[in-house]
Amino acid sequence: MTFEDLKLIAPIRQALQDEEYITPTPIQAEAIPIILNGHDLLGCAQTGTGKTAAFSIPIIQKLHEQHKAGKTKGIKALVLTPTRELAIQIDESFASYGYYTDVRHTVIFGGVTQNPQTDALKKGVDVLIATPGRLLDLIGQGFIKLNTLEYFVLDEADRMLDMGFIHDIKRLLPLLPKKRQTLFFSATMPPEIQRLAEKILHDPEKVEVTPPSSTVDKIEQSVYYVEKKEKIKLLTSLLQDKTLESVLVFTRTKHGADKVARVLSKTGIIAEAIHGNKSQNARQRALNNFKDHTTRVLIATDIAARGIDVDHLSHVINYDLPNVPETYVHRIGRTGRAGRSGISFSFCDTEEVALLKDIHKLIGKQIPVMNGHAFETQTAKEAVVEKKKEIKDEAKKRNMYGSKSNGNYWRNKKRAQKRS
Ligand code: AMP
Repeated sequence: MTFEDLKLIAPIRQALQDEEYITPTPIQAEAIPIILNGHDLLGCAQTGTGKTAAFSIPIIQKLHEQHKAGKTKGIKALVLTPTRELAIQIDESFASYGYYTDVRHTVIFGGVTQNPQTDALKKGVDVLIATPGRLLDLIGQGFIKLNTLEYFVLDEADRMLDMGFIHDIKRLLPLLPKKRQTLFFSATMPPEIQRLAEKILHDPEKVEVTPPSSTVDKIEQSVYYVEKKEKIKLLTSLLQDKTLESVLVFTRTKHGADKVARVLSKTGIIAEAIHGNKSQNARQRALNNFKDHTTRVLIATDIAARGIDVDHLSHVINYDLPNVPETYVHRIGRTGRAGRSGISFSFCDTEEVALLKDIHKLIGKQIPVMNGHAFETQTAKEAVVEKKKEIKDEAKKRNMYGSKSNGNYWRNKKRAQKRS
């Protein structure tokens, strides 16, 4: 499958050539024809699969053709996304893929003054990329009208839900024209997201790509058992290896991210932290430095790292394990993007053993252990063995007394206890 097979117009093919894209990713191969044919789409895909191009390319193509036919007035496409970083990246994608077309686009998000954004809107745009809060705000002030809208993209729907944007989305929906093409993307499909999809999509085609485990399979992973207070020494020693060219480090807290960045910088390793407490400008600056490889190490919390899109990210390090196992998959999915392979290291202290177990359960395999490193802790390793034993004992008990779901289990257990 090539981009020519997808019947893309010459200006877009030229732009993709400039980007050095050779073949469409699976989601692009599946979704682009569906969107070009005018169908609604339910895309189950996470960042890193090439989904931004999958929706922006056909939208640009359709708008370019409408432009040529002289049919353009007002905002035609709205892309709603949860974070500023994602919004900026989507806007950059529209700029790249639409470089040789005259499709106009702009991005709006909160946390900065609105004047440059409203000035851009006044000039007229075809595509508006927005985060929910600022969008509703500017609609309320009369700067944005959506009555001319033809395409609506809801990006990272599950993340929207996690971040508490569901009410904003529900407020927005009645403001959109009923007759429109809707593209809905989510990495996971919990029931609430499914209900939302049913509400806003009309007879959609479904596209599902790279379920988490297959993304994970491409990444070389290892776990380092290490005590909490030794983690910083382990990180510093790993970063002495210069083959770790571009490293994204995840910490659980903002405070933790700052602390790690401070200590690394003191040892001469160029590192910056990115999280919600930093100003929008500081975050963007840190991200740009990382993208152009001025900074080798970026330390991030999960929310701040959403959508960080860096070419050739060589390593992801889980300095702290995430509380939610799916987050592990999202984190390490930042390396090994769009078919490339990547490497991830995960630090696990004694208190995190249960979190590691949840991750193993989700990905359906055990992450290989890095044995014999300088900061190895036996306590965490022993805790893993202990946990495994607990699970085995529990299973044994279940077999011994029967199933817990009927009364026999408790009766048999009591009898056994009496006997002993
Ligand atoms: P996304 O899932 O939209 O965040 O995209 C992930 C990354 O893949 C981005 O860095 C894109 O520039 C890159 N990408 C998207 N489509 C392709 C493609 N067809 N070939 C190579 N890289 C791509």
